[in-house]
Amino acid sequence: MLGIALVGCGSPPPPRPTPPPPTVTATPPPTPPPCTSPGDCVSEARLRADVGAVAISRPPGSRGHDEVRERVVAAFGAAGLEVTLDAYGTGTNIIGTHPGRREQAIVISAHYDHVSGCSGADDNGSGVAAVLELTRVLHERYERTLVFALWDEEEWGLLGSMAWAKEAQEAERDIAFVLSLDGIGYADKRPGSQRMPKGVNLLVPDVAQSMEANAMRGDFIAVVGDDGSEPFVKAFAEIAPTYDLRVETAVLNTLKKLAFGDAQRSDHASFWLHGFPAVMLTDTANYRYGGYHCGDGDDAPERLDYPFLRSVTATLADAVDRLAKAPASAPE
Ligand SMILES: [Zn+2]
Repeated sequence: MLGIALVGCGSPPPPRPTPPPPTVTATPPPTPPPCTSPGDCVSEARLRADVGAVAISRPPGSRGHDEVRERVVAAFGAAGLEVTLDAYGTGTNIIGTHPGRREQAIVISAHYDHVSGCSGADDNGSGVAAVLELTRVLHERYERTLVFALWDEEEWGLLGSMAWAKEAQEAERDIAFVLSLDGIGYADKRPGSQRMPKGVNLLVPDVAQSMEANAMRGDFIAVVGDDGSEPFVKAFAEIAPTYDLRVETAVLNTLKKLAFGDAQRSDHASFWLHGFPAVMLTDTANYRYGGYHCGDGDDAPERLDYPFLRSVTATLADAVDRLAKAPASAPE
């Protein structure tokens, strides 16, 4: 009854004119300044997110291994690369190509597998994250072709990189140099936090002296190349101060490469063996980091130094940018 009474009460009011939309005076969000170089574009937040996603148990054949591979394939695709899965028998390398004007390639690589039961955030979530970030910031059309590669079964004896390097040698591929990023996200600024890798005193005494003069702080990235990759090593060392990065470099000749056991421990060694110039970048692993292969606890994402990882990746971006522009026929 009450409802009927209310409805019946008089005629409906005339429609009110629609009020004019309020004047929007909010300031638009500031547009970020354009990057001044590829390295300047490198994002610490994206590196952190990628390390977090890769740092899951992922021994070959596991679900985690499949997940990481799928994430990499998707990221390579999103960066506009030509993606191929290189199934070499026991494992699968992931290759993304960014064609240049010439075929001569710079290979930028990291292994994506890890030993079982360990998160492997530094080894090698950090290297995978850096490769993914480099695919995003190195997008101009270069003189040289960029090949981004993520190797499988490094922890099983460099199997993935060895298979690809062997094929590259047989196919006589034109490769300017190969970069292997393996454990590049751990730093410790405290004096005495760095141990001296075996043989450094004898083979590269200037590096040993420099480490001692820096009170054996574990705050640098080690860049170990050979004669053929020296132009990259030099460019990296020159650019590093721009990003407040401390670097120790070594360029080894054939004899020193053989004598320096610790310099054979990552995928770059597969390329040395097959006659290609190659460089290893590393935070020196067990010579600095107790979490190496989960020695003193998990190699977990929260143990890494992301500003350090960002500086290493930014330096890499600008060094590759410089050398990718070099005419392939010219001696850099
Ligand atoms: Zn590794």
